[in-house]
Amino acid sequence: MSGRQIEWAALTDVGRARERNEDAYFGGDNVFAVADGLGGHNAGDVASRLAVEPIAAFDRSFGGVSPDRIADALSKAVLDANRAVYQRAQADAKVRGMGTTLTVLAIADSSAHLAHVGDSRCYLIRDGEISQLSSDHTLVARMVAEGKLTPEQAETHPQRSILTRALGAEPEIDVDTLEIQIQPGDRLVLCSDGLSSTVGDEQIRLTLADSTDLREGCRRLVEAANSLGGPDNITVVLLEVTGTPPAQRAPMPVVSPATVAEPAPDLARRRRRIPVRPIVWTLVVLALGLGSWLGFRWWIDRSYYVGLSEGTVTIFRGLPTEVAGVELHRVEEKTDIQIGSLPELWRQRLRDGITADTLAEARQIVSRIPLRPGAPGATPTPTPSRT
Ligand code: MG
Repeated sequence: MSGRQIEWAALTDVGRARERNEDAYFGGDNVFAVADGLGGHNAGDVASRLAVEPIAAFDRSFGGVSPDRIADALSKAVLDANRAVYQRAQADAKVRGMGTTLTVLAIADSSAHLAHVGDSRCYLIRDGEISQLSSDHTLVARMVAEGKLTPEQAETHPQRSILTRALGAEPEIDVDTLEIQIQPGDRLVLCSDGLSSTVGDEQIRLTLADSTDLREGCRRLVEAANSLGGPDNITVVLLEVTGTPPAQRAPMPVVSPATVAEPAPDLARRRRRIPVRPIVWTLVVLALGLGSWLGFRWWIDRSYYVGLSEGTVTIFRGLPTEVAGVELHRVEEKTDIQIGSLPELWRQRLRDGITADTLAEARQIVSRIPLRPGAPGATPTPTPSRT
């Protein structure tokens, strides 16, 4: 092995607005990754965790890969990750339509190899300057490239999270790759958009400039994003090229967020004592009936899903079903995203409806729907429309 050594630390946080952490990260001896899952329910978690497994396997086999094959082996690991997510999404209706970003660094001797899909980011901090090594696979990045938006407009664009590329949507995928030479003192930052969309590049650099301790650096970045509202899950993997053998590094399991909320305990199993006198029985039955109905209504009114209405992606309040001919939903918000601009998988998923616990989560799902490459580029803008 080489004289080039890496110290690293990582942190993931659910943020201030989301109920679940759908990000995942991996840190090994030579390979490091961030994945930001998307999809309704727990599908985002499933996607991001699935995506980092082949990356962990690549790290375990790293010693057997010849230096001139590392870039290919890394790309293959990302393609394996895509296939794993795609196949699970095909096989399991509960997670159909899920996807994830994946940004991976493989450190070999004096080189860092980057492989990247989506809008998670990789930054290099060298000699007091920060540069973004990855390109965002987003609609706004494409519009900037086409001269339709300025970079400043893109930073605050409401639809800046719409992806044009993500793992899991298609059986094959284009992977961006890059190789750079690294030197002692370099720092590399992998992060999900929960950091980069709230904390600007320069603030990331300044925040880390004061942190000699990498763990402290990660903590400060997460704090910075949370202090700006923490609208999304925040994940940071921070690497430093030391050039000297590292102190005992902690082992590096595939880390999935520990902040995922567990389901509420099964309240239905808690038995209650019920008075036996008939009149009380009657009252109890009536109360239960009324309670069930109110509970049912309460539940419906607080449920959301993303589906299709008149050929466009729409957020509904309620459930994507009907009972005895009564529809249990109404339109909450319409978007301008046409069905024709969606990958086939997402069309199917949206026909079934992707459920969400909150309106914010439903909007998040909308904002992360990947558009078909080359799709007619209407800029999707949610417009409130209660009916
Ligand atoms: Mg995110």
